[in-house]
Amino acid sequence: MSTPSETVAAARDAFNSGVTKSYAFRLKQIKSLLKLVEENKEILTEAIIKDVRKPKFEAVIFEVNYVANDLRNIIFNLEEWMQPQKPDKPLTFIMDTVIIQPEPYGVALIIGAWNYPVQLCLAPLSGAIAAGNTVVLKPSEIAPNTAKVLAELLPKYLDSKCYHVVNGGIPETTELLEQRFDYIFYTGNCNVGKIIHRAASKYLTPVTLELGGKSPVYIDSTADLDLTAARVLFGRFANAGQSCIAPDYILCSKEIATKFIEACKRCMTKWYGENIKESPDYGRIVNRNHFQRIVKLLEGSKIAVGGKHDIDDLYIEPTILQEVKPTDPVMQEEIFGPILPIVNIDNAGNAIDFINDREKPLALYIFSNDKTIHDLFLKNTSSGNMLINDTMMHFSCETIPFGGVGNSGMGGYHGKFSFDTFSHMKGTLIKKLDKVGEYLNAARYPPFSEGKMNFVVNATKKRPSIPGLRYFSTFVIFGLGVASALISKCMLKCIENRKNE
Ligand code: NAD
Repeated sequence: MSTPSETVAAARDAFNSGVTKSYAFRLKQIKSLLKLVEENKEILTEAIIKDVRKPKFEAVIFEVNYVANDLRNIIFNLEEWMQPQKPDKPLTFIMDTVIIQPEPYGVALIIGAWNYPVQLCLAPLSGAIAAGNTVVLKPSEIAPNTAKVLAELLPKYLDSKCYHVVNGGIPETTELLEQRFDYIFYTGNCNVGKIIHRAASKYLTPVTLELGGKSPVYIDSTADLDLTAARVLFGRFANAGQSCIAPDYILCSKEIATKFIEACKRCMTKWYGENIKESPDYGRIVNRNHFQRIVKLLEGSKIAVGGKHDIDDLYIEPTILQEVKPTDPVMQEEIFGPILPIVNIDNAGNAIDFINDREKPLALYIFSNDKTIHDLFLKNTSSGNMLINDTMMHFSCETIPFGGVGNSGMGGYHGKFSFDTFSHMKGTLIKKLDKVGEYLNAARYPPFSEGKMNFVVNATKKRPSIPGLRYFSTFVIFGLGVASALISKCMLKCIENRKNE
């Protein structure tokens, strides 16, 4: 077995060989990864279920199928994504070529988390491959079956010199983090996120940190509460509450809370029947440590719905807490389990203050039919993502970046954003070695003069563009600048000639 430094050296040699640069190579790897997912969907699904005990529906839809679609999207678009982008040209560079060339960083380290063990490894991996990096992938040790399956399958389908899997826990990850990487992509909790950030700073390695935190939900009186209950509970109780973007707590008035709790009861009976423990559609807590941590959060709380638990089965009943105080233990940390506290506030303004007094959330959810309320939250709060009138669904909208801000993370991915995340966008200016261009640029060379300085100031001054005539006004000014420079040059020559006469 290779040591971490040998593994990283092998990935670096593979990158330096240039093999990952071509479109053909990347496409072949992405297609092979899709083949891996399609040919092994049962194996992957079983591993997820063994590790996290989530319903098969969730393992397939949120992980295996999600990753397959992500890969298909790359296959359809990769050639276009790899092309140099052609941004607008400032007037000064109107005769030049201006491009943004995406280039791979080099060797990327991807560290996955246990709660979506396939998706959180393969989705970043596909972005890194598409962008032309070689990769060292470190799945979570808390999902050991998935980690084992990934370590067995990836070398069978992907180029084994370019893509490596390292399994292990904290010691192995710590050893990996001592190596030099060109990009680090980490998914997990904020505390470890800080360890990753510190380790990356040793070599100034750029990072994406996909972290967590408490994602609030605000509900106002214009919202249909049956619909709202279904959409909130979908996010809160999927994967038994162990989702980074699960709605963490509700902010609403006391009157709305009473009606919302009744709507939640109706919804839960419809979904899971009278005995939730027997429902095949409700998951379990990943291990005893997390179970004990979550159950402790219930102590001293006013339980409106649920509250039963069974450590031998790692079962915690979907639970709603009412009249929760901001100082209660359940409000001090990300819950990451099937508990939904309701904190009473009077209005949207109070909700905004409540949110802004805390760390920036990964997701912010608003339930309201009032557009002014939407705008109020949009403009006066900061969160990784914001979703109005639903929960979690923004995750699958690949045309928006998914990620956190502040304590909930940095950077984003999904869709083309995954390709961009793993690419350095190299701004490139290509000029011709020509005489006309040289004449127009000559004002920058010594000996300097007032005339030259005024010419540069005028020619480079930013002006508002006229819609439809983007460069017209600047062209006119530029032309006038050139003309005035030529005129002053002629006049100076005339004066000199007269002096000599
Ligand atoms: P975890 O325990 O699986 O840890 C994540 C990774 O960090 C693992 O690969 C693990 O080996 C590594 N790790 C753990 N301790 C380490 C240390 N001391 N040094 C170096 N590496 C270490 O997962 P977790 O952290 O329990 O995951 C849950 C958290 O992740 C929650 O906060 C959740 O919100 C967040 N999360 C975020 C996203 C997202 O996309 N933003 C997705 C899933 C989970």
